[in-house]
Amino acid sequence: MHKPNKLWVRVLPHKYLSNSSVLQVQAKPQDSPVSKGLLNARDRLHTGFVFRLSIGETSLWHDDWSGMGNIAPTIPYVDIHDVERKLCDLVVNNAWNLQVLYTRLPVNVLHRLQKIKPSTVPNRHDVWTWETNTMGIYTVRDAYRTQFKSIPIVLGARWRSSPSCPHCSAHEEDVLHCLRNCRHSQELWLKFGAFTWPNFTVGDHSSWIRSQARSSNGIKFIMGLWGVLKWRHNMIFEDSPWSLEEAWRWVCHEHDEIVAVLGEGAGSMDCWLGSRWQPPLAGSIKLNVDGSYQAVDECSEAGGLARDSQGN
Ligand SMILES: [Zn+2]
Repeated sequence: MHKPNKLWVRVLPHKYLSNSSVLQVQAKPQDSPVSKGLLNARDRLHTGFVFRLSIGETSLWHDDWSGMGNIAPTIPYVDIHDVERKLCDLVVNNAWNLQVLYTRLPVNVLHRLQKIKPSTVPNRHDVWTWETNTMGIYTVRDAYRTQFKSIPIVLGARWRSSPSCPHCSAHEEDVLHCLRNCRHSQELWLKFGAFTWPNFTVGDHSSWIRSQARSSNGIKFIMGLWGVLKWRHNMIFEDSPWSLEEAWRWVCHEHDEIVAVLGEGAGSMDCWLGSRWQPPLAGSIKLNVDGSYQAVDECSEAGGLARDSQGN
């Protein structure tokens, strides 16, 4: 993306960015699932990117240095003296010098500008870069840290005044209580049949997680952990938290997707949680249906799919 003359860099922005930037473009309904997934990841990682000033060739008005798109359309009036301003024009002795501007910048723009380190460097272009790594190189490890810096994780009671579990109020909410022993977590594990797995109820949290993740039920276990944690967050942060059935369906869906992806390279894997579609007898047609209803706006929808024994 930083080499605008490359063919693929010219093609992809033209197709996907429609005169916007990677940080600004919004997903469109017709976008592919991959494209939507990338933008979803972009939104989650947005706070990890910073604009790095180098030679300062970036236009104050017409380039996206703020992460909000170019600011020209948001400024009511630009003084004629400032029309050609670049960011390097506003830097004096490694500090922002806004006295040179004849145009008044809105507070939110000033706020964005202050986030940029005002030191210019020769022979390098201004660029958006990854903040948490000194080399500006994105790594999954940094992304993980960025995520967990911004999202409170409900493990332990460090961020609350009470040490008791917010769901059952009966115990201290240590890691093992949160992930396995709380009665809500147990409800989900019971759905998995996890309490019949070898050594599922023994060990401290570290050895429990290691041994179960490496067992033959490893994928189910890992997805179960993710589901338990997600459900607990959901109960705290959402106005209408999932029911047990909704949590279970979410876990099944995620699990089956993981298994489908892994199964492509590793042959068939016999660990589906969700039941697979079974074809009808030859000469018959099977009709699968589903429907939903929203009480808020009294909308309902239903759909169905008819297939023969060959799946046609
Ligand atoms: Zn509990």
